[in-house]
Amino acid sequence: MRPFGTTIFAEMSALAVRTGSVNLGQGFPDTDGPTAMLDAAAAAIRGGRNQYPPGPGVPELRTAVSAHQKAFWGLDYDPDGEILVTAGATEAIAATILALCEPGDEVVCFEPYYDSYAASIALAGAVRRPVTLRVVDGRYAFDPAELRAAFGPRTRLVLLNSPHNPTGKVFTAEDLAQVAALCAEFGAYAVTDEVYEHLVFTDAAAAHVPLAGLPGMRDRTVQISSAGKTFSCTGWKVGWVCGPRPLVSAVTRVKQFLTYVNAGPLQPAVAVALNSPPSYYEQVRDDLQCKRDRLCEGLTEAGFAVLRPEGTYFVTADITPLGGTDGVEFCLALPERCGVVAVPTQVFYDNVDAGRRLVRFAFCKRDEVLDEAVTRLRRL
Ligand SMILES: *Cc1c(COP(=O)(O)O)cnc(C)c1O
Repeated sequence: MRPFGTTIFAEMSALAVRTGSVNLGQGFPDTDGPTAMLDAAAAAIRGGRNQYPPGPGVPELRTAVSAHQKAFWGLDYDPDGEILVTAGATEAIAATILALCEPGDEVVCFEPYYDSYAASIALAGAVRRPVTLRVVDGRYAFDPAELRAAFGPRTRLVLLNSPHNPTGKVFTAEDLAQVAALCAEFGAYAVTDEVYEHLVFTDAAAAHVPLAGLPGMRDRTVQISSAGKTFSCTGWKVGWVCGPRPLVSAVTRVKQFLTYVNAGPLQPAVAVALNSPPSYYEQVRDDLQCKRDRLCEGLTEAGFAVLRPEGTYFVTADITPLGGTDGVEFCLALPERCGVVAVPTQVFYDNVDAGRRLVRFAFCKRDEVLDEAVTRLRRL
């Protein structure tokens, strides 16, 4: 683990605190999730649900995850044996990679990638095979030939995050079909990080489609999601894994020695949130879509070349029109220059040049915070 320093999010959040900057770096919301969920958590703590929950997670949460999968994505998972509750998506990703990869196995992933992927792959002694998402006509896309070339005899799994952090890309049906075909051809598993499953904007070119729903994929896919983003409770670290029994069993084997169990009283509260009516999810999306538009407009006015996201609560922007040539330098100077913190996305690439001039802003913040950030950025 020597090559891995402090995560960029911790570093930039500390910089924000130190300089009194508006922090659009780390992606955490600044408002709370549904009241019914918060009340249920308080009631669970007061009601004595404070000891180790069952290893796979409390039954009502596994049942709620199962019902949610069915209602939104038409996927069937048995709460007994095909669903495992984890300490956020982060633990789910780590446990899954550790469960499925032997040292030297290869993991295909799209870069820029969420920073825990590289670390989890390294912990398993596996090797990452990045496929670069590049901006073509204002949208992030991959080259199908590059994707095919990343697969080989040692490919064990492909790690797919859609909607994608940090680019905001929603993988299209065609993208997913290519991934599925290669998994079948090379006998690889798929691990899907779907923490932004409910954050696809109404003007996106594609709706969210779980890879597990494609023909032949259910039996080779471990699907991962979490409450943190959908229900504005990133500090709770309640996530889950859904998949065929043998894979979930393997992941459970690892998870039991990482954390054993987690978040006992919060699990029933997340079940309450998951059982929210569809209108709740639509409201969350609509609110964030307004925030996206608000920040994108402001960033454009401030001089950035904005890459409008189709999903997630992040926007990436090119700093070239502002005279920037390196995102790290730009982001380190930004608090001094105008009191705003952003994250350089080059740290999420192996091929650093592909992301050298891109920075990421989070818009999961109150409107007045976004407006203040824009006012400051216009001084650039
Ligand atoms: C936030 C995030 C996670 C981590 O989710 P937790 O539930 O907080 O562990 C995983 N993947 C992506 C793409 C994320 O943005």
